[in-house]
Amino acid sequence: MLQWIAWGLLPLAVPAAPTPTHNNQIVLRAQPSSSSDKQPLRKLHGRFLHITDLHPDPFYKVHSSTEETIACHRGNGPAGTYGAETSDCDSPFSLVNATLDWVSKNVLGDIDFVVWTGDSARHDSDEETPRHNKEILETNQQLADSFSATFSDKHGLTIPVVPTFGNNDIFPHNILMPGPNDVLRSYTDIWRNFIPEAQRHSFEFGGWFYVEVIPNKLAVFSLNTMYFFDRNAGIDDCVKTSEPGYKHFEWLRIQLQFMRDRGMKAILMGHVPPARTASKQLWDETCWQKYTLWLKQYRDVVVGSLYGHMNIDHFLLQDTKDLDLSLIEAAGSRLKEVREPIEDDMSINSGAEYLVDLRNMWSQLPKPVSAKDYAHVKGKTNKKGGKKHKKDKLGGQFAEHFQLSLVSPSIVPNYFPSIRIIEYNITGLEDAVTWVDHMRGSSVKSNLTVNDESQVEYSDEQDQEILELRDLSDGLVDAEGKKKKKKKKRPKKPSFTVPEPPSKSAGPGPAYSPQPLTLTGFTQYYANLTSINNDIAPSVSSDESDDNLGVERWNPGKHHGKKPKHDSPQPREFVFEVEYDTFSDKIYKLKDLTVRSFVELAHTIGQASAKSKAQARDTPDDGEEDESDEQTDDDSEDENESDDEHVTEEDVDDDEESADDDDEEDSEDGPHTTGGKGNKGKKGKKGKKNKKKARKVWLHFAKHAFVSTRTAEQLKGIDK
Ligand SMILES: [Zn+2]
Repeated sequence: MLQWIAWGLLPLAVPAAPTPTHNNQIVLRAQPSSSSDKQPLRKLHGRFLHITDLHPDPFYKVHSSTEETIACHRGNGPAGTYGAETSDCDSPFSLVNATLDWVSKNVLGDIDFVVWTGDSARHDSDEETPRHNKEILETNQQLADSFSATFSDKHGLTIPVVPTFGNNDIFPHNILMPGPNDVLRSYTDIWRNFIPEAQRHSFEFGGWFYVEVIPNKLAVFSLNTMYFFDRNAGIDDCVKTSEPGYKHFEWLRIQLQFMRDRGMKAILMGHVPPARTASKQLWDETCWQKYTLWLKQYRDVVVGSLYGHMNIDHFLLQDTKDLDLSLIEAAGSRLKEVREPIEDDMSINSGAEYLVDLRNMWSQLPKPVSAKDYAHVKGKTNKKGGKKHKKDKLGGQFAEHFQLSLVSPSIVPNYFPSIRIIEYNITGLEDAVTWVDHMRGSSVKSNLTVNDESQVEYSDEQDQEILELRDLSDGLVDAEGKKKKKKKKRPKKPSFTVPEPPSKSAGPGPAYSPQPLTLTGFTQYYANLTSINNDIAPSVSSDESDDNLGVERWNPGKHHGKKPKHDSPQPREFVFEVEYDTFSDKIYKLKDLTVRSFVELAHTIGQASAKSKAQARDTPDDGEEDESDEQTDDDSEDENESDDEHVTEEDVDDDEESADDDDEEDSEDGPHTTGGKGNKGKKGKKGKKNKKKARKVWLHFAKHAFVSTRTAEQLKGIDK
């Protein structure tokens, strides 16, 4: 019993011959390899798809009402052919199918794998048609079949798909009991084409698995965030050894160590992100603590972390200065809740509040020292590993005190439907064996064979850990895993194993310093449903209005109260267009997707906050753009710079392109710097200008957060 850990350790994370699906004719069976000199079926492209929160609703009806409790199921109203954009209605299947069609025609040939972060069932928004378990699983099966069909040829998957479930893929929603259980067994079956065969057993136990999307090079880890989710009443925390969250982190630690030992890298993905502001959070604090510690220790392994659930386009930073091991040291005691859980489903209003919370938190970030200046500073502290310069509040030039989570917006059109294509560096990997070629046996030189456990060699250390885990598990979880035994058997070893840090010789990891597998940028695509549905005449007045922003719960959308202009729908062709991309976005100016790039961006956005350090002192709670904060720049500079180090504007602006700004006022310096110490006369002007620039970046961030569905006026209103 409880062989899950041993199972979980099987290193080959590539599925064996996938089994046929229920509902279509495709026989998903791997071809046995015949020769090793076959032409490869695929090459790497350095791109992958992140898709999330499809929320298909079998009851969606075109031209129905978007009002609360009706949820696009009945009545007459503006619900469009491909969805009721900007409302809280779920997705029609037409949107899901059109999306996968578009992906199939436009990106299939260019991507290496698919990250699919869950919520593949509708919400429970209509009391007349309540959700039930069977429907949720059927919807998920239907979507899994569609994904299989989209990413397969006649022999099976050609591109690995890595799914996870969301809080709405479970009935009742948010509640997932410790495994093994029926929910996990169901998904083991639903995702049989996606979960490597060798890991199905451990998946049934915990709902976690990984896929070697580039065999022996890169794995995508599907985390079961339901076991971290504060709203999951079926679990407690990540401290007690009987908790599935505890076991999840043990599994993750062992697997990431295994990746490190094999010289591999990992992308982490899950549904619910580790969102955590001063007052609110989504994960149990103990789980957040462990996650942050794990990512710190495996910063040489982890390439990036991708999440969904929030629907809004944004990112999160974990700051390792918030680590407090005492919170996760002792088993048994429930941590006092310091933060409120974030609301279940974000209304526009709470979304705006949340963005403002993030911005206010970022206003406390230290000012990033320019790379050039860092080199200068480093030169002065000639002792290797000697005392850190006081400027070094980020964790060196790579900002290693921080960790980054990227949250992609959703298909479900609470805003506009959106998908993300992320690019990564494949230098030196151009001829790496792809997943499908590995699966189908062409040019496989691996000495490990799927399902051949005897050939797996564990290090002594791993053996030891497996034994320890078995000790801990035995007697702590009963056979069903359903009911936790009440303190009958207390764990002998309440403390936990702190993961090994990177070796001293390891350089900064792929999330920090550009190198092979580092994420280089992404393109955000969106489908403008207002245009595609072609149903609502453009309004003269602005009654698609700010009152959206005041909605507390259900949002009936911007077409609320309007009538479709055609009796029968006349939609235009469904297409995704580029909303923005990080390679050419002139306001974000992200060189890449490294942590440092986002720390710089977050710092700039934070400077637009009334709570940014300087302004909080000088112009309390002003909130206006930039008219009364003459001293801002001075003070923030004094926080972060010593007197003997003059950072001139030229230094700070050094790596900014000079002429790529469309706004004349912003042509002198980039958004990621707050400027340097000028002479006395320039300071006020500079501060004012920086504030204005920060405000511009903040509004840009908010615009994309809502997938370009909000007017400039509405955006300006969100922090008032
Ligand atoms: Zn969700």
